[in-house]
Amino acid sequence: MKRILVLGAGGFIGTHLVLRLKEEDAWVRGVDIKVPEFSTSAADDFVLGDLRDQVFCRSLFDHAPDEIYQLAADMGGAGFIFTGEHDADIMHNSATVNLNILDCASEADVPRIFYSSSACIYPERNQEDPDNPDCREHTAYPADPDSEYGWEKLFSERLYQTYAKNRGIEARIARYHNIFGPLGTYDGGREKAPAAICRKVAEAENGGSIEIWGDGTQTRSFLYVDECIEGTLRLMRSDCTVPLNIGSEEMVTINNLAKRVISISGKDLRISNIDGPTGVRGRNSNNDLIMQELGWAPNQTLDAGLRDTYAWVSRMVSHSNA
Ligand code: NAD
Repeated sequence: MKRILVLGAGGFIGTHLVLRLKEEDAWVRGVDIKVPEFSTSAADDFVLGDLRDQVFCRSLFDHAPDEIYQLAADMGGAGFIFTGEHDADIMHNSATVNLNILDCASEADVPRIFYSSSACIYPERNQEDPDNPDCREHTAYPADPDSEYGWEKLFSERLYQTYAKNRGIEARIARYHNIFGPLGTYDGGREKAPAAICRKVAEAENGGSIEIWGDGTQTRSFLYVDECIEGTLRLMRSDCTVPLNIGSEEMVTINNLAKRVISISGKDLRISNIDGPTGVRGRNSNNDLIMQELGWAPNQTLDAGLRDTYAWVSRMVSHSNA
């Protein structure tokens, strides 16, 4: 039986990844500083601890795993990463985790590690036109991410690549683009746009309005979590050593995203665009390289994922109001 270590297993994507690995009959050890917020982890062993602590990291390698998925990061949506208030924490905490884990994993002769990078590494200059963002993998350099979160991800991509070059551990790197779905944070300040919009719509009275940050013409694409996990496993099991986008190519404006959620809810709501942190003007996945490397790319429609996510968030909202 394969032994797999999932770091960040208490988070949104980690919770889903552990579930999928358990369906495939692996033995899974999950690690996080917190337990999953909205479900019980399916991991065989769930270890609570801080991956910034090198002694704690070492203790995880009493039996070396066959594979590691490194998803732990100090992370959030626009309200967390674009305000500037958390930049030192984001850089320090996430970089320390990656430095610690790579050292321990390579010393323990772990053959392969997966690292979750982000679309936030792409240069701001390529994302100024909301209708034509350019996020092809090779455009990452010369680098100019629009957030410190993006800079840390880019630094860590390079860190993983140097360990692959010099320390004998193979690295697989994905650049995730806005992953959403049930079991994701939907309030409290770290939530991302789809979950935040689902919550606002679920909480709104019929005939009322919801607030959307920015003028609403900024564009993004959103990938449902099941397809993110599928892409992650396919990449991990491939020979591809370069970073790959894992995202959807179905680009929408944020106002359009809100309109779709409103329509799913069946409510009559207006959109009120207000000042708020928004990030780049446009971002979309480009899936040419993943198609070329893996012969696969995500293809589920945004609406299908939004229906499941809205159903889950509105259930959570009505439970918390009950
Ligand atoms: P998440 O915040 O739900 O999960 C990250 C987990 O890491 C959290 O449970 C957190 O407690 C844990 N963690 C943070 N610091 C830790 C520490 N010092 N020790 C132990 N655990 C620690 O985020 P997610 O949405 O599941 O994202 C997973 C990964 O994918 C992250 O690295 C994130 O940067 C990356 N990513 C996510 C998205 C997205 O849209 N969700 C997009 C791009 C990249």
